Amino acid sequence: MALHRGALRLTLLRHSRHLSKFSSLGGVRLASENVVSQSATSSPPETAGDNLIYTQEHLALKESLRKIIDQEINPHVDQWEAEGKFPAHKIFKILGNAGFLGVNKPVKYGGLGLDFSYSVAVAEELGNIRCGGVPMAIGVQSDMATPALARFGSDELKEEFLLPSIMGDKVACLGVSEVGAGSDVSSIRTKAVRKGDEYVINGGKMWTTNGTQADWMCLLANTSDGPPHRNKSLICLPMNLPGVQIARKIDKLGMWSSDTAEVFFDDVRVPCKNVIGQEGMGFTYQMLQFQEERLWGVANILTAMDNIIQETIQYTGQRKVFRQPVLYHQSVHFRLAELQTEVELLRSLLYRATALYIKGNDVTKLASMAKLKGGRLTREVADSCLQYWGGMGFTSDVMVSRFYRDSRLLSIGGGADEVMLGIICKYMDTLPKK
Ligand SMILES: Cc1cc2nc3c(=O)[nH]c(=O)nc-3n(C[C@H](O)[C@H](O)[C@H](O)COP(=O)(O)OP(=O)(O)OC[C@H]3O[C@@H](n4cnc5c(N)ncnc54)[C@H](O)[C@@H]3O)c2cc1C
Repeated sequence: MALHRGALRLTLLRHSRHLSKFSSLGGVRLASENVVSQSATSSPPETAGDNLIYTQEHLALKESLRKIIDQEINPHVDQWEAEGKFPAHKIFKILGNAGFLGVNKPVKYGGLGLDFSYSVAVAEELGNIRCGGVPMAIGVQSDMATPALARFGSDELKEEFLLPSIMGDKVACLGVSEVGAGSDVSSIRTKAVRKGDEYVINGGKMWTTNGTQADWMCLLANTSDGPPHRNKSLICLPMNLPGVQIARKIDKLGMWSSDTAEVFFDDVRVPCKNVIGQEGMGFTYQMLQFQEERLWGVANILTAMDNIIQETIQYTGQRKVFRQPVLYHQSVHFRLAELQTEVELLRSLLYRATALYIKGNDVTKLASMAKLKGGRLTREVADSCLQYWGGMGFTSDVMVSRFYRDSRLLSIGGGADEVMLGIICKYMDTLPKK
């Protein structure tokens, strides 16, 4: 295990030396120009010089991850989609061994100790997985259920829950949404009532990604009757405790390979020391945790959009209608150019938000803008690209139809578009005063 992680660090260093030599000879610039003049349709290979936030180390990290995706994940995606589940423990162990479940987490707890821009790089690379469900499940483990624990949790909690999650030995899930409360997180009903040294938990969670396979949940529950933004706590909840019941696995429009559960809690007893950070701060911690979740989601969808546009260019370039390739019709290649332009604009916004975030700035507004735009743009990309595939786009045989189904979630999950608009308006000071 240590060998794999050491090997990754070594690879990062080697790449860094090789690429900086290339770059110092002016190779990065010339290479790009040559490619453009030779072929106007293929993209130049990605280099650190092209990028605002990525160094050679980021690119080396992505390259190592790509090998795992190609060898261990993509060959099985169709089967997992058909089965409605992927083997989270097996895949997380592979990713954990290689260090990809905690790139920005402390070395003390098995992480690589890098900054959040490396998580963004990992999220972008995971967009090469040929479905949305598996990367989403990985993101829940690495960047949605664990940031608050890493930042505010006690050493004991980090030993028990963070370390094994980063190593891929435990599967995590995030329990925020409920049957009666999704967009309005402050109105959740699940209660954790203090009895001696324990909380007794009653209620339930809805839409829990990884929920049927998870070993523990980062649970948001009401721990007092105080005001709704100050009465909540995040609690590390082992899923094998008496009273935790997986009520059902939910059938969905998309994200088939990701299991989504409804979970009930009936007098579940958990030690009070399992609370993350300060009791009553759960709402605030969760709002902070959402920032990383949202940036991660945008990074992940960018690559998926790139890939769908590229596959559409390939397909429409060889499929003829009215004696010429579909792609040659101006409405088609202009539309694809417009969409690619918007993808690049979104990428710039993401990188700007990430660069500010790793310097310690509050990027709530930019992260919300990126999430809003990501959700809306992915719907446009999916709809336009599917159209150009004609009847083929309506079959289950092609990636574009899976992308159409899977990517629809981005405008809903992790805060719907309207919730993002509300946050942006708050920062613009345009919300009507109550
Ligand atoms: C596949 C999947 C996986 C998920 N995984 C997880 C998970 O792991 N953990 C977790 O906690 N949750 C998870 N969720 C839940 C997800 O975050 C919620 O679905 C989302 O927050 C929306 O909540 P809701 O479904 O209750 O919609 P509601 O809150 O009922 O909202 C319905 C709609 O109302 C509209 N709306 C909302 N606010 C406003 C407003 N201010 N003005 C106007 N219109 C508005 C929006 O269009 C919204 O879609 C998942 C959901 C899905 C579908």
